[in-house]
Amino acid sequence: MSEGAVKKEVKPRKFQAIRGTRDLLPPETALWNRVEQNAHEVFGTFGFGEIRLPIFEPTQLFARAVGGETDIVSKEMYTMPDPETDHIYGLQRSLAEWDLEVGNFENADSFQGLAVSLLVFIVRAQEEKVVGFDFEEVGFEAVSEMTLAVAELRGLISKHSQSGDASTWNLVAEQVQRIKLANDRLTVGEDISLRPEATASVCRAYIENGMQQLPQPVKLYYMGPMFRRERPQKGRYRQFYQIGAEVLGGSDAPAIDAEVIEMVMTFFDRLELQGVQLGINSIGDRNCRPKYVELLRAELLKVKDKLGADSQRRIETNPLRVLDSKLESEQGIIDTLPHIADHLCEECAAHYAAVKHQLEMRGVIYRENWRLVRGLDYYMRTTFEITAQGLGSQNAVCGGGRYDGLVELLGGPPTKGIGFAIGEDRLILSLQESGKAPAQQGRNVYIAWMGERAHATAIRAAKDLRKAGFSVELPPVEQKFGKALGQADKLGAKYALILGDNEVSEGLWTLKTLADGSQVKFAEPDLLEHLRKQRALSS
Ligand code: AMP
Repeated sequence: MSEGAVKKEVKPRKFQAIRGTRDLLPPETALWNRVEQNAHEVFGTFGFGEIRLPIFEPTQLFARAVGGETDIVSKEMYTMPDPETDHIYGLQRSLAEWDLEVGNFENADSFQGLAVSLLVFIVRAQEEKVVGFDFEEVGFEAVSEMTLAVAELRGLISKHSQSGDASTWNLVAEQVQRIKLANDRLTVGEDISLRPEATASVCRAYIENGMQQLPQPVKLYYMGPMFRRERPQKGRYRQFYQIGAEVLGGSDAPAIDAEVIEMVMTFFDRLELQGVQLGINSIGDRNCRPKYVELLRAELLKVKDKLGADSQRRIETNPLRVLDSKLESEQGIIDTLPHIADHLCEECAAHYAAVKHQLEMRGVIYRENWRLVRGLDYYMRTTFEITAQGLGSQNAVCGGGRYDGLVELLGGPPTKGIGFAIGEDRLILSLQESGKAPAQQGRNVYIAWMGERAHATAIRAAKDLRKAGFSVELPPVEQKFGKALGQADKLGAKYALILGDNEVSEGLWTLKTLADGSQVKFAEPDLLEHLRKQRALSS
């Protein structure tokens, strides 16, 4: 092969970001920072502290908290075996896929060897208390069953190797089968998943860090990326960002619900988010919701034929979800269904009325939306959703609600809880669409220097200007003044500071305002003063 041909072949692959993920670039990232800075400030004024959470957690945490049946957990999570337990998965897979060769005792012996490795690994992991290797979770019965079968298999194989008698082959095959069945029943190790949301992690952290010992309620907020394998479209990504908050512990006083909502609305107000609409609802509690769900199911069954396939299925699995339907043909039917507000128990009705009153006291404008529901049992009473303009069909920028049973479901004490999650990508999109994004910020000062002496002065000037908070571009190599000014223009610099031999020897620096081309000479200290004054005037 000629050298040229080799070169062609090794042309490196061009990589692209994975579907549904994207790079956030300047100047857009300045807007992201502004949004996040405002969240820190506003949430801080409401007494919330920031919690930073792991990006991955045991899959089971999400299965338990978000619900194994939900789309998020059943279809959309990025899940992988924990590398620590990957070895054991390998062994299990080999056992499951083992093809026993009829009459081949050596082959059965290798199988037996693998089963022994698996058992040794499990027992050692149990002794070392490796997460996910609690015998109870692994399946104690299955471990004993496999141990017994391995012992029998080993006996049969050693008998054959001593006597050469092959008549026991059927018994060997039987033990192999027994081991395979036990293998199927073992649940060892743990899968880990990239977090699809953060409420589960916050609750886990609350329990794990003994936060119930702190003054209650504990008020936490978080921000960061979440991962869901959804179909990407505008406002919907596979890696997206949420800013959320949770109030855990203490009471479920309606003022807490109202204050949490007031906090999000204050945040949106501060960002001047346009077309903000808050919808609220109460979905009752364990007392009254089941009765409403039954009523809903009965009503839905009456109109089943007129519903689409998804909704028909949900009549059985989760009738509340029918209310989420966006299908045009179902809207008329849904309008005739009973409203949960008319079926709340006395306590829930009082709580809901008080939340609304509290919102009014805080000047928070809301709309009741009886179709706002959540499908999981531990969600209760207050639910809310906030939409904003410029987002098309994915116009929800925030979803939230009360989840008093969740901490308990994750092994903690009975704990009240309420929270929300803001979709930061959508929030940013909406701000951009309504022209609330900040204009691109150019450099303040471009230093056009020529000559070695001027370079030294330029370095010192850049240091001083940066210390005073100005954004400075200091070209790394000498440029002709004409070229330097062109470059300053392209970078959107406001000023060019011209430093040549004359300026350095006179101690008078030339400042050119690029917008109008005017030039003024300043002594070094006066220049800084002048720029400071100009900055104060323009802010
Ligand atoms: P959820 O955690 O599903 O209640 O979602 C809360 C908020 O996160 C939604 O209102 C959206 O603004 C945002 N969100 C959820 N999924 C996505 C996604 N795939 N891409 C972008 N934003 C999302």
